[in-house]
Amino acid sequence: MHAYYRHAVAFALAAILVTPIGCDPDAEQPPPEAVEYEQFMLYGLAANYWGNPTIPVCWETSGDATEKGWVEDELTSARSWSNFSNVSFTGWNSCTTGFDGIRITGGTSMVVNGGLGELSDGDSDMELDFSSAPQNTWTRCVENSLSREDCIRTMALHEFGHSLGFAHEHNRSDTPAACTDSPQGSNGDTFIGDWDPDSIMNYCSSSDSLSQGDQLGVVSAYGGPFPGWSPCSSGTYPCPTKVGDCDVESDCADGTTCVDDVGDLFGWSSAADVCLADGDLPFPGWAYCTPASPCTTGLGDCDSDADCVAGTICLNDVGAEHGWSSAADLCVQTVATFPGWSACSAASPCPAGSGDCDSDAECQAGTVCGNDIGPTFGFPDLSDVCIPDPGYSIFR
Ligand SMILES: [Zn+2]
Repeated sequence: MHAYYRHAVAFALAAILVTPIGCDPDAEQPPPEAVEYEQFMLYGLAANYWGNPTIPVCWETSGDATEKGWVEDELTSARSWSNFSNVSFTGWNSCTTGFDGIRITGGTSMVVNGGLGELSDGDSDMELDFSSAPQNTWTRCVENSLSREDCIRTMALHEFGHSLGFAHEHNRSDTPAACTDSPQGSNGDTFIGDWDPDSIMNYCSSSDSLSQGDQLGVVSAYGGPFPGWSPCSSGTYPCPTKVGDCDVESDCADGTTCVDDVGDLFGWSSAADVCLADGDLPFPGWAYCTPASPCTTGLGDCDSDADCVAGTICLNDVGAEHGWSSAADLCVQTVATFPGWSACSAASPCPAGSGDCDSDAECQAGTVCGNDIGPTFGFPDLSDVCIPDPGYSIFR
C-alpha cells in the first residue's frame, strides 16, 4: 500500500464529502494499455455549475508574476475549457473583499478546497503549486516529462476543471476495473456521457490536455459554440446531452437520444441534430411550430395538426413531459387509421399514438393508456390511445 492509497482510504473512512480535491503527488498510475472504452465524457456536479459562465478570477497572493502569467495565458488559450464553451475566465487581478469567483493562492499544492464548482459563498478556492520544482512532484507532470512552466499550465487546466464543477473521472461508479486508482475528493451528481479514459480529470490518464470528451463535456455543462457536424462519431466519442451534431442514435451517449433539427434552440444551425436526455430540451416557444415550419414528434408548442409533420398530431397540454408548462402542446406520432378496438394487448402492446388500449399494460414501455382521447387522434369516440408517459422521454 503506497502512501496515496492510505490517504484515499482515510478519506473514505471519514466519509468526508467536503474534502480538498487535490492531486496527491503519487496519485496516478500508468494508464491501462490496450483497453478500449466506448463512450468518453466527464463527471459533473451540476448543482454547483456556475450560474454565469463568465467567471471572475483573482489572486489571493502577491508576487509570482511569471507563474500567474502562465496560468492566465493557459486558461484563456486554445487549450482551455473556455475555448470550447460559453465559459470565460476574466479579471485576473488581486482579490478584493466581496469578490465572487475563483480565488487562487500561489502555494505549494495543487488543490481546490471546499468542494466542486461554485460554492454557496460564490467562490471557488484554488491553490496552485508555484514552488521551485512542481514538475517533479505531480504525477501528471512527471509522466509527461513536463517543464516547470508546462506543469503549472497543465495542472491549472485540471484544477480549473474542479472549479467548473467536474469531479475526478475515476471517481465514477462506472470506472472500469482496469483503472485501479482510488477515488479522491468530492463526487459529482451527473455523468456527462460515459467514462472517459482520456479525460484530464482522470487519474488513470496521463493526459496533459483536454480530451475530446472534456471538450464536448464542458459544452454539455455550460453551452458553447457549435461543436461541428461530426464531433460524435459512432463508437468513438458519442456526444453527451445538449451536444451535436448527431446523425444516428449511436452518436449519442447512453441515456440520450438524437433529436433532429433543434440546433437553433442551442444557438446553432436549425439543421443541427442534438443529443438530449429527458428534460434537457429548452422550451422552443409558443409559436415554434407552424404550418410553414411544422414540428416533428416531441416538439412544441403547436396549435393545430397543421403545425405538425405528417404522421404526427398536436396533442394538447402535455408540455410537462419536457418540464415545460403543462399548457404546452406537443406534436406526437400517431397512426393513420384507427387500428381497432382490440389492436393492443399485453402480449402485443401498442406504441404511442395507437389504440385502442384498455390498460397501461397494453401500451409499450414509456407510454400509458389515455382514456377517451381517441377523437384527438381521429379515432372513434371513447377510444383510448397510448400516449407518452409523463416523466418518460417523449422522444423514445
Ligand atoms: Zn484533481
